[in-house]
Amino acid sequence: MEIIGETYRPDGGIAQPVTLLGGLVAALLVALLLGAAMSFVGQWLYLILLFPAIAGGLIGAVGHAAVDRAQVRHRFLAATLLFFIGLLGYAAYQVGEYQLLLHRMRTGLAADGVTDPKEQAETIDEFFREKYAATGFAGYLRLAAAAGVTISRSRSQSRKDSGPTLTGLGWWLYVGVEALIVAGMAAGIAWGAAARPFCEPCSAWLPDAVPVFRADPAREPELLGMLRSGGLKALVGRPPDLSRVPPTLELSIQLCRTCRRTGFGDLVLIELDKKKNPQRKNRATHVRLPAGQGLALVQMVGGPSPDPPVAGA
Ligand SMILES: [Zn+2]
Repeated sequence: MEIIGETYRPDGGIAQPVTLLGGLVAALLVALLLGAAMSFVGQWLYLILLFPAIAGGLIGAVGHAAVDRAQVRHRFLAATLLFFIGLLGYAAYQVGEYQLLLHRMRTGLAADGVTDPKEQAETIDEFFREKYAATGFAGYLRLAAAAGVTISRSRSQSRKDSGPTLTGLGWWLYVGVEALIVAGMAAGIAWGAAARPFCEPCSAWLPDAVPVFRADPAREPELLGMLRSGGLKALVGRPPDLSRVPPTLELSIQLCRTCRRTGFGDLVLIELDKKKNPQRKNRATHVRLPAGQGLALVQMVGGPSPDPPVAGA
């Protein structure tokens, strides 16, 4: 039930499940490719924490597009799916590292005269079993944990400004943090995409918020009260004062482009920090407006900026 003055809550619907499935497959492919690319580029350069963050952001971008096109309003589902896709992407990176190690070991054996692939595989298995009591990928993980990772600003060979080396449990924690960065970023972006205001009757996402009014920060209780009680119509016809410099309170409106009835208001306090950069602090987010009020407010600043409804649509 939609109640005026309440904060928007996604209804949990999914308009296009098949589109979502396609989008998830695309996100998974991107995740696996990024994992492979990270290990490939990692032969020369690997920036710890940063590479996983970039990968997580890119996987999240595909997830955002999938959520957008499939009109997913189920935040938990969207975030969970992208979390696991992110984990698989990071797993692909570790599998890539394992394959590169195998390649190096085979090359080394070939140089020592062991050229038969079967013999190479047996020798490698034997090495892992003797030293790490496990073969295959499990053996690689134990070897990697024993070798550890050196935390440094740069992994280039020339600079020796290396920090501590994490081995054993430390390495596992490091790998866990990196995996969580990839998965967490992808999940967070998907969550945000599914949380955006949606017009259920029109089955459409709402466009970006349009600033319609600025006021002295001292008026925060008054404006919050008007927003929460559906009483913003009192502002219609007042000078919007949008050129007011920070510190200022800003009211902005999201209005459905199709019906122009579903609307939400945001109240943001904009202040300047020490470097004179504006900082936005949300005071109220996605508060449902009475039908018609959003349109009246948007028109106050020369709107409606949304396109007029298409006849017959
Ligand atoms: Zn609508």
